[in-house]
Amino acid sequence: MREERQAPDKTSPVTVWKEDDMIDGQRVRAMVVILRTKGCWWAKKGGCTMCGYNVESLDDLTSDDLRSQISKAALKYEGERMVKVYTSGSFLDENEMPSDVRDVLFETFAKADKVLFESRPEFITEEMLAKLPKGRCVVALGLETESDDVRSKCIRKGFRRADIEKAAENLKAAGIPIRTYLILKPPFLTEKQAMDDTIRSIAFASSFSDSISINPLNVQSGTVVEDMWRRGDLRPPWLWSLVETLREGKRLTSVRVMSAPSGGATARGAHNCGKCDRKVLDAVERFSFSQNLDDLEGLDCECRVRWRAEVDLQGVMRTTVDMSRHIEDEPEL
Ligand code: SF4
Ligand SMILES: [Zn+2]
Repeated sequence: MREERQAPDKTSPVTVWKEDDMIDGQRVRAMVVILRTKGCWWAKKGGCTMCGYNVESLDDLTSDDLRSQISKAALKYEGERMVKVYTSGSFLDENEMPSDVRDVLFETFAKADKVLFESRPEFITEEMLAKLPKGRCVVALGLETESDDVRSKCIRKGFRRADIEKAAENLKAAGIPIRTYLILKPPFLTEKQAMDDTIRSIAFASSFSDSISINPLNVQSGTVVEDMWRRGDLRPPWLWSLVETLREGKRLTSVRVMSAPSGGATARGAHNCGKCDRKVLDAVERFSFSQNLDDLEGLDCECRVRWRAEVDLQGVMRTTVDMSRHIEDEPEL
């Protein structure tokens, strides 16, 4: 019998969970709320190669639905100092989050010191920022990479570095802290090119960021990246590459550099051999809070040699395919 897909509940958030984050150098509890919205306008034009967020979006969603999602999320709020709101798009896009709904959200979580949200740069205007509550916002910018070439050809992000620089300037002028998101290993880059690209991007983003979050490629459903991954045309980055990138990137900046890989230790996310993944992810988490490079020392596993060989071989062969999948006959995905 064919499985019936249940219509999503427009009046409930996609999901809510709790995790730790940092405010002014202090580790605090944060509540994460994923709201269902009309979705990212750019995704409707084809969107970014790795983004599958729009599966949660609904065109006919109303302001009342959003208000109801916020009230339901509030039932789970236990006074966390930080609330992170993700909309699968841009929180500052009036079409996704009308300003009256944004105000309701800020009032609902009035006890939170900081509310973090994401926005594409085209919505980060002086006029928009003037409408936000003073001293409470943190804006996440999806720069992804400092390279306009990589951002347009590998990610198809639809904006340029200069757009982010302008948005950052507006945020700085408004006194709003910036968290910059960088992708590690978009499609079409080898493992080595990806590490180099992200290390360069950390150096670039340091000039305007208050924290930098490295997001290793994570294979989401219905994306260009998923098609490539199924064919074995790419592999999400090794966790060793993440460690190397954090280590080299952190040496270049005093800004907090962090990573909490979505889908880490699975075939769809950053992974190693399976035996050492947990240990490496724990070290990455410790480092993300401590910023102490010693937390990334002393990690080893027999797969590290294989990672190093693949990094070198991909370069020589000029290929970005998942070589292990083709050579070692890994299980069908
Ligand atoms: S990654 Fe961001 S900008 Fe790109 S399609 Fe997804 S939500 Fe839109
Ligand atoms: Zn291993």
